[in-house]
Amino acid sequence: MAQIEIDYERCKGCGKCVSYCNYSVLEILDDLIVVASPGKCVICMKCMDVCPLNPPAIRVVGERTGDSCTRHKKG
Ligand code: SF4
Ligand code: SF4
Repeated sequence: MAQIEIDYERCKGCGKCVSYCNYSVLEILDDLIVVASPGKCVICMKCMDVCPLNPPAIRVVGERTGDSCTRHKKG
């Protein structure tokens, strides 16, 4: 199962990813961004898009399952 992970070495704790996630996956706990509800994450990548860092301090880890036959359909 794919899930997201915060790169704490680089995260600035700006909280943008937390406010832009529509699924309440992320929370701020003692100035640290935590993946509080990983099960709710739909891997929409919005948090990565809004992260001011390049590359984002959030990444997807693990494998995405299902939908394998549509993975080349982009574009
Ligand atoms: S990938 Fe989407 S659902 Fe998952 S934490 Fe980021 S914004 Fe929220
Ligand atoms: S948007 Fe990026 S830098 Fe800001 S808190 Fe989230 S992961 Fe950290």
